[in-house]
Amino acid sequence: MASQEIEALSSALARLPGLGPRSARRAVLWLVKNREQALPALLEALDAVSETLVECQICGNVDTSDPCGICADPRRDPKSLCVVEDVADVWALDRARLFQGRYHVLGGKLSALDGIGPDDLNIASLMERAANGEVEEVVLAMNATLEGQTTAHYLAERLDEHKLRITQLAHGLPVGGELDYLDEGTLAQALRARRPVG
Ligand SMILES: [Zn+2]
Repeated sequence: MASQEIEALSSALARLPGLGPRSARRAVLWLVKNREQALPALLEALDAVSETLVECQICGNVDTSDPCGICADPRRDPKSLCVVEDVADVWALDRARLFQGRYHVLGGKLSALDGIGPDDLNIASLMERAANGEVEEVVLAMNATLEGQTTAHYLAERLDEHKLRITQLAHGLPVGGELDYLDEGTLAQALRARRPVG
């Protein structure tokens, strides 16, 4: 019979994406067995995350500073703005320095099914940034899912009033593909072969 503490940790872990109750229990068991080696590092890392990470008020990225390292980097091309669904996509694209511009994180995708409309995403701030006179190209780097593509079409329409080059990732992306899961080669190819929307 698991103690209350173990039960609490299991159910906390079971809420993480990709971890169901069963794998959460296995993780807890592993942590208990390896507590002397594994726990201090994990606690320290969790503590650092909760103490130091903040959301960038400009782009929505998560970093140790606000504005984030990307927004604050003067070597980044201010003319190019890449719009993604989630922070994980910024990290995926930026891991290999594939994109030299700046990012904008929507914080999700339009979904009639889940009741997520334009006001639930960081779209108003995107429109402001796109209209700041500095941005010349907006790359819509949504996932190749139905909802991702619906979101991209919606944004392309909204952005149309500004004199911008609007592109989206080439569909070397597998159908249903999520950026975060792609290898860097596929991602680089999709970005290089990006094409005008519409
Ligand atoms: Zn930022």
